Order: sequence, then structure tokens, then C-alpha cells
Amino acid sequence: MLHTANAQQIRDGLVTDVYFERTRKILKAKGIDKDVRAEFMTKGLPANWPWAVFAGVEECVSLLKDLPVEVRMMKEGTIIGPDQPVMEIHGKYLDFGRYETTLLGFICQASGIATMAARCRKAAEQRQVISFGARRMHPAVAPLVERNAYIGGCDGVAVGLGASLVGIEPVGTMPHALILIIGSTVEATRAFNEVIESHVKRVSLVDTFNDEKIEALNVAKALGQDLYAVRLDTPGSRRGDFNKIMEEVRWELDLRGYGHVKIFLSGGLDEYQIRQYNKFADAYGVGTAISNAPVIDFSMDIVEVEGQPVAKRGKMSGSKGVFRCPNCFETEIVPIVERPSICKCGGRKVELLKALLSSGKIKKALAKPKEIREFVVKQLQKFEL
Ligand SMILES: [Zn+2]
Repeated sequence: MLHTANAQQIRDGLVTDVYFERTRKILKAKGIDKDVRAEFMTKGLPANWPWAVFAGVEECVSLLKDLPVEVRMMKEGTIIGPDQPVMEIHGKYLDFGRYETTLLGFICQASGIATMAARCRKAAEQRQVISFGARRMHPAVAPLVERNAYIGGCDGVAVGLGASLVGIEPVGTMPHALILIIGSTVEATRAFNEVIESHVKRVSLVDTFNDEKIEALNVAKALGQDLYAVRLDTPGSRRGDFNKIMEEVRWELDLRGYGHVKIFLSGGLDEYQIRQYNKFADAYGVGTAISNAPVIDFSMDIVEVEGQPVAKRGKMSGSKGVFRCPNCFETEIVPIVERPSICKCGGRKVELLKALLSSGKIKKALAKPKEIREFVVKQLQKFEL
């Protein structure tokens, strides 16, 4: 048996913190069921990140749509900063309070993964980034990891179920296992070329037995135009400068007429290393940095009870509007009854927290993963790492 909760157990509140269950019990015993507004936001971002990508919306909606609540939420993929409410739930506390743990779990992890994917996307500029990190997390959440890696800006994902969730084909090269078992990089690459469907790109792993430069030339000679790329893995395990190794590989391939063969890099990469390797690398496989990205610490806070603004210390009370200028992304948070100012740049700010759910009805169809990804990539043009 797996040590994971299934959808029904999550819905039944079995993975909520017990103090919410006790709160529910006390309020019920006392006959108290108040109308509240609760907002979700983060006070700060991990690792000095200047921005984050808001994700996890679809799972929140799948839970909230069956509850008698009103929900305002940002679009999935919106780039956010600290102190910007991303979601507001309005309803009877007893109808949704017990799901605080669950809803935070949906958005905190998803947003962390999507943000790191977006950071790698930004660092790689137009080069390909593929999510390779499923193996670093529990397999039960691999589809979630892959979906959020994709919407954050990865071009492809490695795991089949994750790929089908976002409507793409999974992407992969070849593992060391294939080469070690066949006993030769060239023979393994030839076998791949013979057996695997022709639309799958041929990417040969060239660091198993010999120097990358020699193996790259060997497989290029063996496959010619069929070879799409050579993969160089685990830069950290080798002494020396990885850019030097890539420079040599590139030089030798080009000199012999294999300019079409791309260099695919993988092995312990993060956004900072990607930036360092952009000169020679054409594509990246990123694992742990994305799959195990720091989570975004969202919290849920009550900001209104029975129509009266109220908040704990350190929080601003009342329902809020989050307005952003579409030109310069200047963002302003105002009480819900107020309109925003005109942006310094002259742009007219638009409300990011839009009514999404009302008494179980979804007011606007959710965007498809591909559309969310395009939305993220477009916004990234205006943001730096
Ligand atoms: Zn502006």
C-alpha cells in the first residue's frame, strides 16, 4: 500500500490538520457558523526570488466547486510577488475552513515547481528545457511535478502520465543502463535508431565509457543526419570546466560537418548553471532543481467576519483588489471598494483577482496547460531572475 492519500480521502478532510477539525467541532457544538472571507497570500518568497508563478488553481477548483462558496482567484500562471492576495474565499466558515491545509498544499508546492521551471526557462532563453526530476519525488505526485514544470515553461516532460496530463508526448534521451548493457555507445545508439519510432529525436548519451569528444564523433559518424543531439550528463562528477568540454565537442563536431548535432546537457543543473552553460549548450534536462523546488509559503487568513473587516496582527483586514498595469506590471493592492490609480506609465490597471466560482458554478472555463504555459512565458519577458 502506498503512503499517499487518494482524492476521496483528501475531500473527506482526512489530511487536514487536526486543529481545524477541532475548531469545526467546537463551532458546531456552540452553534456558531459565521460568514467569513479568507485570503491566500505569501509574505515572502524563498531563496531571494523576486517573483513567483501562481499555480495549483485547477486542483483548488476541483475541491471548491462542490462547496457553497464564492471564490475570487488569480489566473493560473500569473506572476506574483509577496503581499499580493492570490485567492479569496467567501462563505460560511464551516463549509470550507477544514480545507485550509489542503488548499495550501495544492498551491504551495505547485507554485514552487512552476516558479523554478520559469526561472530555468528564463535562464535558458530560447534553448529547450526538459523536466527530468520525477525520480526525485514520490511517484504518486509525478504528474503534478510534470504539469507544473510544463506550465512554468519547460518545453517537455519525461514521465508519460505527466505528459498526457498536459497533452504532450513525453521526451527522453537514453539512460546509461542501455549503453552499459549493450556494451557500446555507438551500438546502443544504433539500436535506438533501429527500434524507436522515427519521430522520436535521437539523442545519444556520450559520457559512459570514453571521452565525450571521441564518443560524440563516433555516434555522429554512425548516425549522420539521424543524430539530433549528444547528451553530456553529470557535469558535477567530472573534474574540469564543463564549458571547455562542450567547446571541444562543438569544435570537433563542426569541423567534421556535424554542425546539425546539438548539445544536450543534464545532471544537477539549476538556473544559475544554465546561464553559465548557454554559450555551448542547446538544450537542458533539469531534475531536482525543479521537482524539489522550494515551496511558496502561502497562508490563509480570515480578513472579514460577518461583513466586518478583521485580521490578526501583521495582516491587513478586509477584502482587497489586486490591480496590475498590463504594460509595466506595476501592482497595487486596494480595499475592494476602491478603484486603482492610473499607472505612472499611463496604463490602466486591471483586476487580477477575478470571480471564478459562485455556489458551485465555474464562471469562466479554466485555461489549458498549453495556454497557461504561453501566458507564463509571455510575462517572463518583463521579469528578470
Ligand atoms: Zn504601468
